[in-house]
Amino acid sequence: MLTYDLKVGYGCNNKCKHCVIDDSKDKLLEKKESIDLTTEECISQIDYALSKGAKNIVLTGGEVTIRKDFIALLYKCHENNLNITVQTNGRMLANKKIIEAIKPIDKIRFVVALHGDNANTHDNITQAHSSFNQTCNGIQKMCEINKLVVLKIVISKINFKELSGIVKLASKLGAKYLCFAFPHGHGSARKNFDEVIPTYETLKPIFEDLIQTSKIFNVNIEFEAVPFCIIPKHMQYVGELKYFDGNTLCTQVKEETFDWNKIRRSIKRKGEQCKNCDMNDFCEGVWSEYAEAFGTNELKPIKFPSTIKEKALESIKNKLIQENKNSNFIGI
Ligand code: SF4
Repeated sequence: MLTYDLKVGYGCNNKCKHCVIDDSKDKLLEKKESIDLTTEECISQIDYALSKGAKNIVLTGGEVTIRKDFIALLYKCHENNLNITVQTNGRMLANKKIIEAIKPIDKIRFVVALHGDNANTHDNITQAHSSFNQTCNGIQKMCEINKLVVLKIVISKINFKELSGIVKLASKLGAKYLCFAFPHGHGSARKNFDEVIPTYETLKPIFEDLIQTSKIFNVNIEFEAVPFCIIPKHMQYVGELKYFDGNTLCTQVKEETFDWNKIRRSIKRKGEQCKNCDMNDFCEGVWSEYAEAFGTNELKPIKFPSTIKEKALESIKNKLIQENKNSNFIGI
């Protein structure tokens, strides 16, 4: 099923230390071009998505909810029967006008960025005062009106000790789905590389703890850009498995549309040893900037006993693809 990922612009009320859009935004600023699409440009992209047969649309930025035309864009998608995902920092979701507009839309979900279990950490990362309180309010309001909320947590050196705390907070706010994304050393994350990017080795015990916490609190989790060998006992949580099913066409503001599945694989790396890993065919590896900075020695091939290897791989593939099909859960 085709998903169209529409970047409406780079304007945002947060300034996250790990944000990946800075490079594309800077290019537009250098050329003295607007960093945001006009309403007409957004509408024309939605029409293009429909003409390509897209059933799902992701409205993302920048921050789409701060646009004056946010509600108009939502209704354009809603009236054309698209499944809508709003990727947002959530700060505007407690706004009464926005809540009322969202209530009647049934095929909608929110992927909300939450980066700490307290205001100090979250606001330090977003570099926006009060953003934690506003985001938590927004998450709570969407849960109260029964909209699906997926929390997107970008893991960093600043918040990694709080990942289990974020699971507990999510449960308190009413959110049941969390996607923990390993940061991509691009844009602001490249500029703040040493402050932001942790090593997988540091994270292994933290991941174990957060997986156990998620079971206790009955929330669903997945990881992004975390290979199987980092969580070998919990491989079902590797989020990239969802890409076995469906395609995603992506846009950057004022740039050509591209196929995210192809691009994503091309900007990831594995080690030589990965050729001997039984999960090699399913695995995308790590972000290339990470491999350049830290090497690939942390990646330890997974080996199934030869007597069960074929069966094990077949059943993993079928089970994981089936789980993805059955799941409402997306991390983006
Ligand atoms: S293919 Fe490489 S990165 Fe992927 S799980 Fe195996 S060893 Fe780890």
